[in-house]
Amino acid sequence: MNFRKTMTLNITGNMKQDIVFLLYHDIDTEICPSEKKETATLNTVVAFDDFYHHMRCLYDRGYCVISVEKYFDCKKNESFSEKTVVLTFDDGHISNYDLAFPVLKKFGFTATFYIVAERIGKPWHMDRFQLRELVENGMEIGSHGLTHAYLPLLNNNDVNAELIKSKCILEKCLSRKISGFAYPGGHYTRSIVKSVQKAGYLNAASCLLGTNRISVSDDFLLKRVEIRRGVIEKDFLNALKPSFIGFYSAIDFMRRSFKHTVGLETYGYLRKKLYKAYPFKR
Ligand SMILES: [Zn+2]
Repeated sequence: MNFRKTMTLNITGNMKQDIVFLLYHDIDTEICPSEKKETATLNTVVAFDDFYHHMRCLYDRGYCVISVEKYFDCKKNESFSEKTVVLTFDDGHISNYDLAFPVLKKFGFTATFYIVAERIGKPWHMDRFQLRELVENGMEIGSHGLTHAYLPLLNNNDVNAELIKSKCILEKCLSRKISGFAYPGGHYTRSIVKSVQKAGYLNAASCLLGTNRISVSDDFLLKRVEIRRGVIEKDFLNALKPSFIGFYSAIDFMRRSFKHTVGLETYGYLRKKLYKAYPFKR
């Protein structure tokens, strides 16, 4: 059954609305076992049944689920559904096409998929035909860099190569403009944000935890709520509440301050150690 026809829009035009952007990575089933061995990355892989349930929750509660591109269209027209959620996927894993895409079509949702340009068609990743099919079905494709390198670790030339070459490859591949970028690993500096603007992008998604107030949010540091493995319905519904997210964004701010103080490499090392000490139970 296709639910698309039954979706209705309730347009309010409330520019003080806080919009939640959700972030997913891979979706996992037995036909597509995760190649990710490290606990830290495995945590980003959401089980298919959970993902389906999350989307069903959104549909049943009347949410209008849109891509980042559609979000900016709504912002331009000052017309938002009272219940709007923006859906994004990072990394371009094949499960986004095999598993998530059919669910999105079923519920009439759109989403933005941030793709690592050099991984197009590589094992476990979507190829250009699959990306084109996503676009033909109303999905947006954005850049997630050329190689997924963490940009603060690169020199200026390499940062620009990541930003500009990935944009060119995706534009050539899809014959359309690419306007969105997502910082690999969520890592950025002020000068990288400027480079993203200079490279011709119109917006960029971060991994800063929080919601986006339509009238005041920074288009180049869009905040997102990452949905990780094992998120049950209660937690998922909480993730849609701006008040609930506000509490956790304060904790996230402290985490980022710590990262800034110790540096990205030391932070990454400590994070891995921490995951090893407290392994995630599958
Ligand atoms: Zn990524």
